Amino acid sequence: MPKPTLDQLFREGRPPRDSAQYHNWLTAEERRFILWGIKERWPAVRIADGLAVNEATVRRFRRRCWDDPGLILELDLCEMMGRAKNEEYRCLVCEERVITRRAVQRHILEHFLEEQWVNEFLP
Ligand SMILES: [Zn+2]
Repeated sequence: MPKPTLDQLFREGRPPRDSAQYHNWLTAEERRFILWGIKERWPAVRIADGLAVNEATVRRFRRRCWDDPGLILELDLCEMMGRAKNEEYRCLVCEERVITRRAVQRHILEHFLEEQWVNEFLP
């Protein structure tokens, strides 16, 4: 089974956060939702509404991603296609197929960050 893309995960709505989950930190699912909102060019306030969290929480996470793009890469936004030695990956943001792990990492970051910053982080 192929993994769902961000569009498939979130087009129908936000990830559920039930009242038992009142915590200040964001789950991996919620972080993916924020990145999806950024990709959709939603303002922070709309992402926060969609997620039922504080706008400051969204802004803080976005800023942390700019400071440390590794946070984006931790969210598994690609999946490996076929056998590992082929080094072919499918981007779960846009479904493009990319060869080599490093290239797909750069590709994913370029969805969310300025190219210049990606070059600094993964030259
Ligand atoms: Zn992509």
